[in-house]
Amino acid sequence: MARTSTASPSRTHVPLGSLTQPGARAGASCRACGSDRVTRIAMNLTDGSPVEFTSCHRCEHRTWAEQGSTGALPVDRVLDKTRKV
Ligand SMILES: [Zn+2]
Repeated sequence: MARTSTASPSRTHVPLGSLTQPGARAGASCRACGSDRVTRIAMNLTDGSPVEFTSCHRCEHRTWAEQGSTGALPVDRVLDKTRKV
């Protein structure tokens, strides 16, 4: 039995800088299961930050990332930026 892909809070203390991936891949892929069956949407947050939202069709993992960056953007950062007046 494989371990389920439910996000475990104890694994989230990785420094942001180490999340960058080597080389830019042309297609989007899921950070959780690696599937390329994802939907990627580019948008601007309320504070003007350009971000990309990636949603996986296979495991339903969702990722936010800053455009032009390979690092993931934590959801609370996204919410914070969205709420900024
Ligand atoms: Zn996935």
